[in-house]
Amino acid sequence: MAAPKTLIAGNWKMNGLRADGVRLAKTISAGAPAVVEKADLLVCPPATLINLVANTLGEPLRTGLIGLGGQDCHQETSGAFTGDIAPAMLADLGCTYVIVGHSERRIGHREDDPLIWTKAVAAQQAGLIPIICVGETEEERDRGDALEVVQKQINGSLPDAAKASNVVVAYEPVWAIGTGRTPSLENIAEVHDAIRALLTDRLRDGEGVRLLYGGSVKPGNAADILALDNVNGALVGGASLKAEDFLAIAAAA
Ligand code: PEP
Repeated sequence: MAAPKTLIAGNWKMNGLRADGVRLAKTISAGAPAVVEKADLLVCPPATLINLVANTLGEPLRTGLIGLGGQDCHQETSGAFTGDIAPAMLADLGCTYVIVGHSERRIGHREDDPLIWTKAVAAQQAGLIPIICVGETEEERDRGDALEVVQKQINGSLPDAAKASNVVVAYEPVWAIGTGRTPSLENIAEVHDAIRALLTDRLRDGEGVRLLYGGSVKPGNAADILALDNVNGALVGGASLKAEDFLAIAAAA
């Protein structure tokens, strides 16, 4: 099976007012045609900006040149869940992806694997592709438990109906997020190879599932990371807030 096309996903996190969202979306939209051969692009703005970014991206969003995603969703379809966002609400705004289980949700909002599993299932039921994030803390890596932690997270949060077309997995070592530190290429390859083996074992088309690396990806390290066998893209935080850097990461694929 051919390797899946590279996906470069930008997680804007809780950043940006309307003017920032418009500026960023316009520059990414203008630069997208130059990198589309190398990678698919996805932007995940804060919920307050999704509609505005959708309108600003315009044609590249309509033609699928750029995708739009949420940063989290609730596991229920509607109801008394103040402050939460249902998967169908994201789909209604034009989103096709949603990040679930980001370490900032796992740690800051005490989300565990069973909850992330229900969110991923709910996302799929609404027609969204969940990007399921997994990754060890620094303490777990130092203990030599990185592979075991990541495998347990995947086993606990991957929907039974997962297949290459309806799920993405992102390996994001917690200690590499926003720190400027990255694992060695050997360490990234080791974890991605182990995740691939697990997916191939569990799913009929596990070889085709996109496996993203996330954690301090920038233009300077993207080419080496994206060249690794089982790395099919990147989930980019800080560098996705600069359109030039985001596009340069895609161009490095
Ligand atoms: C992230 O939060 O998903 C992330 C990878 O952040 P950064 O690129 O800033 O490390």
